[in-house]
Amino acid sequence: MSRFFTDRLSKLTPYVPGEQPQDRKYLKLNTNESPFPPAPEVLKAVEEERRLQLYSDPESLKLRQTLAGRYGLNTDQVMVTNGSDEALTFAFMAFGDDDAPLVYPDITYGFYPVLADLLRIPSRTVPLDGDFRIRPEDYYDAKGTVVIANPNAPTGIALDLGEIESILRRNRDHVVLVDEAYVDFGGQSALPLLEKYENLLIIQTFSKSRSMAGARLGFAMGGEDLIRDLKTIQYSTNPYNVNRMTSAAGIAAIEAQAYYDECCAKIRQSRAWTKERLEELGFAVLPSSTNFLFARSDRIGGEELYLAMKEKGILIRHFTAERIKDYNRITIGTAEQMETFVNGVRECLEEKQ
Ligand SMILES: *Cc1c(COP(=O)(O)O)cnc(C)c1O
Repeated sequence: MSRFFTDRLSKLTPYVPGEQPQDRKYLKLNTNESPFPPAPEVLKAVEEERRLQLYSDPESLKLRQTLAGRYGLNTDQVMVTNGSDEALTFAFMAFGDDDAPLVYPDITYGFYPVLADLLRIPSRTVPLDGDFRIRPEDYYDAKGTVVIANPNAPTGIALDLGEIESILRRNRDHVVLVDEAYVDFGGQSALPLLEKYENLLIIQTFSKSRSMAGARLGFAMGGEDLIRDLKTIQYSTNPYNVNRMTSAAGIAAIEAQAYYDECCAKIRQSRAWTKERLEELGFAVLPSSTNFLFARSDRIGGEELYLAMKEKGILIRHFTAERIKDYNRITIGTAEQMETFVNGVRECLEEKQ
């Protein structure tokens, strides 16, 4: 820290993204990226967007219209952001304060507590139950802005629509933010509830199911009033938040829905296959509705497996938080990549004996 860094933030612990090492070629199963390239039309759209001397449209109108069409909404019920992390930032800024502290699970996306700290929004964590599930009842009358990743990360477990609705119904005077980063891999989107609940804000991303993590594109869906509030923050921080290439890519990606449906189907298949192999090897694997598995073994520790696999050139994710330190989070890659992964795990277990 330099001597100029503001005292106000001197205690901030920044988010630690999954590593992106450059020292050798790894099989990367640690940051939930897609193993598949974007649809060919997406790459073509990026190539054809050449007007970089001009600012992007701060309203991102065409992209928002395309998204609204896809999800059956009005254009004013959608806004787009520089990754969904930016949508989360805008939402926390707009809907979190002393009267609306943030309420989220103890085990969830690690960016929430970092962002709450940065913005100095008080927050309260609610423990997942013994099976790492979110208990909806724990969020009834939460007296704050509820933030639920559904499916949750890094557990991979999803709530159903009825459970999400019960949380919305019992928090009518607060925003309930549902982060659906992984919904396309098998979760139930809260979209059908938008009509009925003015307190619902849904955030999704192009990073995972649409193979666009490097393009940085997220979006929020909600009532027009909530979306207007988010735009107020957008125009106060980063008016041109989505760049021209990304905007073009996003429109093309929505139009290439069939390609991405196929990618998601392949991921679900590989996920089931990998879960079975891990269970054969004695792992306990949580039920996943995402593009990753969360697993532990009595035969090898979480950190130990992470390190041994890294030696073999395979990156998986390990978290140091006490409750989950025995676990690893494994991103689902192609069928071939998952064979390499399972062979790697098998070797690690054999080398231990
Ligand atoms: C990956 C992820 C995000 C953020 O993704 P962006 O790349 O910023 O769009 C948000 N929430 C959860 C739960 C995630 O796992």
